[in-house]
Amino acid sequence: MRKVEKNYIKAPKILKSERSENHLNKIIESNGNVKAKTDIYRDKDVLSELDKIYFKKCGYCEKITNNYEIEHYRPKDKDFYPYLSYEWSNLFPVCHSCNKAKSNKFPVKERNFDINIRDINQLNKIEEPVVLNPEIDDPEKHFDFNIFTGEIIAKTKRATETIKICDLNSDDLIYFRKKAVDKIFEIIDLINVASDEIQEIVYKKITKIVINNKDVKSEFSMLWNSFCLKFEDDVLPLFLKEKKELMLKFFKKKLS
Ligand SMILES: [Zn+2]
Repeated sequence: MRKVEKNYIKAPKILKSERSENHLNKIIESNGNVKAKTDIYRDKDVLSELDKIYFKKCGYCEKITNNYEIEHYRPKDKDFYPYLSYEWSNLFPVCHSCNKAKSNKFPVKERNFDINIRDINQLNKIEEPVVLNPEIDDPEKHFDFNIFTGEIIAKTKRATETIKICDLNSDDLIYFRKKAVDKIFEIIDLINVASDEIQEIVYKKITKIVINNKDVKSEFSMLWNSFCLKFEDDVLPLFLKEKKELMLKFFKKKLS
């Protein structure tokens, strides 16, 4: 998960259109028995705005996915929050696995079904939801990574629950995260046996991979951010003694 910036006031037009307002009234009048229309909350303008904000990544696991699904942070199902079906602040792009895992799970400290309260900040204050929200919470305060195994680590109770609810340590996710950083460890193995002439090129390459991938637009950018923060303590010891100093010099130069 990575923090994203969404402007709640600038919702895609379709979500505030007469058609969606009328349909929302039907949903409310029927007590949630009338289902939300996919072609409204999955409208092309909604998708293109979410693309810009989330860079085609899943809001929960940061996997790049071309066929993402629209997640209702507060579930739109009957007996939950059907009146938030077309609420811009309630819509995230997520991958199929995260959507399936989270489903309509939404534990809160105190449930509030007042349909007049649709402002997410106000609702959050009353309800204190458990699942972390990439548009509101700061994931860096809640998550860390084991850069060697690819596991996501919880730093808070909410993070522990979010990992469980969204299955953020699924076999698949651990495999793909480990695969992503393993390419650096493979290069380190090579550099330790390489001749001095090519070292500089390889140091630059390692630095470039790490820095490019920690950019918010990249897949698993938070994992790479963690990799970067742990570089000196955890990654550098993998280099042979005489190579450490030069590697660190390149890395620090690029980061500064
Ligand atoms: Zn996902």
